[in-house]
Amino acid sequence: MRVAVVTVGDELLAGDTVNTNAAWLCGRLDARGVDVERVTTIPDRVGDIARVVNEYRAEYDAVVVTGGLGPTHDDLTMEGVAAAVGRSVEEHPEATAWLTEQGGYDADDLAEGTTHLPARARMLPNEEGVAPGAVVEGIYVLPGVPEEMKAMFESVQEEFSGEATYTESIVADEPESELVGRLREVRDRFDVTVGSYPGETVRLKLTATDEGVLEEAAAWLRERVETREGGEEKTQR
Ligand code: ATP
Ligand code: MG
Repeated sequence: MRVAVVTVGDELLAGDTVNTNAAWLCGRLDARGVDVERVTTIPDRVGDIARVVNEYRAEYDAVVVTGGLGPTHDDLTMEGVAAAVGRSVEEHPEATAWLTEQGGYDADDLAEGTTHLPARARMLPNEEGVAPGAVVEGIYVLPGVPEEMKAMFESVQEEFSGEATYTESIVADEPESELVGRLREVRDRFDVTVGSYPGETVRLKLTATDEGVLEEAAAWLRERVETREGGEEKTQR
């Protein structure tokens, strides 16, 4: 499954808020075997939201959008998503029912627009806050507040899946430029993808869909690179 993540908010583009939602969503989706192929941050502007979401829904199996829900003037995400799919934004009876019956809110106390979602969308209750999310045509619209976003994503995470992969990391204690030949060779010999992430050392990440192939490739490479004590880790997902 190929997915795009869209984070909405002027404060993200200004550097006022660190985009932890994008990193968290990428980690969770990746752990489920989903290929995240885009992460895009856009301003609180209906036209931008509609354009980007419309492009991505055509290209990817699902789009996850966060930020800009709720009723304040800069919360334009529902409007943008509705425009992307050619629907209007309407009072959603289930959203009103959930907030008044289970959320404990009085309908008159809810700010105008709180229960407005794209027409005929599936409503996602907000267990940690007020503004409901929505699913419409493969677009998952989640709140921006990290705790609310996480809880809501967890309520739909089963809908995201992909091929199981295995990864193994080897921390090489050599300059990255000297590893080039061996990294090419391991890719030629085994059906693995190889990531190379330099820092003080170089973290080599091998990924494969076959566990046996991964182990052979990792063993082959481990014999041929210099590592520090304890420079290995293996994960499965
Ligand atoms: P509410 O329903 O409370 O109005 P919202 O869905 O409208 O929430 P925003 O108004 O976009 O969300 O943001 C609410 C808070 O969450 C802000 O403090 C914002 O900085 C933070 N936030 C928004 N997007 C992100 C993000 N991508 N990463 C981390 N924090 C974020
Ligand atoms: Mg808001």
